[in-house]
Amino acid sequence: MRRILFTLAVIASLLVISSTNSNSQSTPIDQVEVAPNLYRLFVNNAVAVIVFDGDEGKIVVDAGYERTAIDLKNAIMRISNNPIAYLINTHIHGDHTGGNIVLGDENVTIIAHKNVKTFLSTEKKQGDKVIPAFPKNGLPSITFTDSLMLDKNGEQIELIHLRGGHTNSDIVVYFPNRKVVALGDLLFANYFPYVDIGNGGNPMQYLKNAEWIINNFPKDVILIGGHGPVYSINQYKEWVLTLQKTMALAKLQKEKGVTLEKMKEDKILKEWESFGSFFITEDRWLETIYPYL
Ligand SMILES: [Zn+2]
Repeated sequence: MRRILFTLAVIASLLVISSTNSNSQSTPIDQVEVAPNLYRLFVNNAVAVIVFDGDEGKIVVDAGYERTAIDLKNAIMRISNNPIAYLINTHIHGDHTGGNIVLGDENVTIIAHKNVKTFLSTEKKQGDKVIPAFPKNGLPSITFTDSLMLDKNGEQIELIHLRGGHTNSDIVVYFPNRKVVALGDLLFANYFPYVDIGNGGNPMQYLKNAEWIINNFPKDVILIGGHGPVYSINQYKEWVLTLQKTMALAKLQKEKGVTLEKMKEDKILKEWESFGSFFITEDRWLETIYPYL
């Protein structure tokens, strides 16, 4: 009996191993060349990673989750033989930094806002679970507070910090010759955005930063957000306008004395149901903005 149980346990553990392996090798990664030598890799139909390829090495913006990073690395290396020179994180979140642990090594310089390094270097508690600090190879070795310029592969790439929108560590990455800007999670294309209030985000500042983006890049720039499809500046304007409309509507209700619970019950954002279909539902968006209206 004991032998049978032992055998079953071995089979069960083998099944777990093989299913983990097959999962880790089957991450869908959709690849589009958005501008010459600049690719958007859409990992698992959810998280955008940007690869700018050139003889001086690749520049990668965001790293996806740790669990998809081996497949991501393989996809990055299928583009060309050029090694990764720089890996840039647009902000602290695990779907943008988790892959640092796999992609980062002594030849890859990780760059981010200084608050990213602080966040990833700190052990965290989630209920009973302890989330350890990142190992050294996954931590940024170059950090900045306001802006940073990189001169690589004939591009003068600008990294610009926009304070307190999605988190306290947001940067946008601009490729001026290619007219592409990576916005990280300052764009959830087609959806309500997540605002991480616990980590320094603020929905009002989020919209202010969006307006800054609209006013400070060329009219024909291509915008790549952390989630959702690639946008033109006009599409971005429309998206921001929609968010403003939802806020104005909720503000009006709040001024009339309508409670948050009642707004949710009345489904006041019903018209924008599709915006709530990814991560932040209409209810969660109302919860996010209500205290600030
Ligand atoms: Zn995020």
